Amino acid sequence: MAERKVLNKNYPADFDPKMIPRLLKPKNHQKKNRFMLPVPARCNKCGNYMSEGTKFNRRVEQVTEETYLGIEIYRFYFKCTNCSTELTIKTDPRNCGYLLFA
Ligand SMILES: [Zn+2]
Repeated sequence: MAERKVLNKNYPADFDPKMIPRLLKPKNHQKKNRFMLPVPARCNKCGNYMSEGTKFNRRVEQVTEETYLGIEIYRFYFKCTNCSTELTIKTDPRNCGYLLFA
């Protein structure tokens, strides 16, 4: 149990942290996480209503081609709870809201 609290670690004399390669991801790299729907939405394919607060697994990417006054815009991808059609939400910093696409 005490081994996890070791404060002094042994680094070899020839260790150079600059030799460790950095993990560089593209700016529009998609990340997966879980979120709650910020606005009520309706699927255009099956007409299913999804209320605000419905939980989804989403993919997030940064929209690299546009910003608003230097504020980053993000696009979220998630699936309809009824028919699994992919829906898209984009943040809209100009109107402090979201743009919904189906
Ligand atoms: Zn649907």
